[in-house]
Amino acid sequence: MKYPFQDFKAEYPNDDACLDRILALRYGGRPACPSCGKESKLHRVSGRRAYACQHCGHHVYPCVGTPFEKSSTPLTLWFHAMYLMTATRNGVSAKELERQLGVTYKTAWRIGHELRKLMADGFSAPTPVEPLKTHVEVDETYVGGKRKGKRGRGAKNKTIVVGVLERGGDIRPTVVKEANSATLIPLVRKHVDANAIVSTDEYSPYRSLPRYGYAHGTVRHGAHEYVNGIHHVNSVEGFWSILKRGIRSTHVHVSRKYLQNYANEFAFRYNNRKAGGRMFDVMLEMTRK
Ligand SMILES: [Zn+2]
Repeated sequence: MKYPFQDFKAEYPNDDACLDRILALRYGGRPACPSCGKESKLHRVSGRRAYACQHCGHHVYPCVGTPFEKSSTPLTLWFHAMYLMTATRNGVSAKELERQLGVTYKTAWRIGHELRKLMADGFSAPTPVEPLKTHVEVDETYVGGKRKGKRGRGAKNKTIVVGVLERGGDIRPTVVKEANSATLIPLVRKHVDANAIVSTDEYSPYRSLPRYGYAHGTVRHGAHEYVNGIHHVNSVEGFWSILKRGIRSTHVHVSRKYLQNYANEFAFRYNNRKAGGRMFDVMLEMTRK
């Protein structure tokens, strides 16, 4: 289910092809003119990212409201960047975009920034949050900072992310100030249905989970136990390693402020992992919001 680069190039050989696709996404196969309301053939207006209504001549600009709207960078390059960002698990650095697209670092940085924002927004769970109902893993990780250390002690200058992951399904990462009962338990209760199974490690704040109805089980990492019957947190740890590898390989400075967005970007990619090559289309559809 990969999307080979040759196929991508054949589908979007030039800016016209990209613009036709954006128009089709916004207006479907048989668009009605937003001005006269009649079903209309929209004719391409040359020299502009626009189409004209066959009846009244009204101009339609399909890029309005997308990240491409105010950019003079060719659409083919934007599409290429989207292709790269959805084809990797680890994210793409501005340096890499600069090299692959043949643009300046400044342009590459801006494109990457806009597209990451798009992915992060695309992840955002609907409100109210739909609670996960089956078997859920909960775990925290510590990002950045200099000192190595586990929870509490030594974690002072690290940023903490809590992951709630449904087996075979979605991850929901949340940056928190501290990993204690006051933050962890409300997070679990917000994201997980009380009838669900919850797996964690032996970290003490999780011990109160059965009180809220959860079928809670643990693995004792301190005792080098990584699976205990149906209980383990290997899926969420898999996500942490993708996230951390991404942070290393893209050389981004992830402050507390940006880590939530960064984690959301990775969650978007992770949660759409089954879309494979179609993740490009998922992303393209999000540009019209
Ligand atoms: Zn019209």
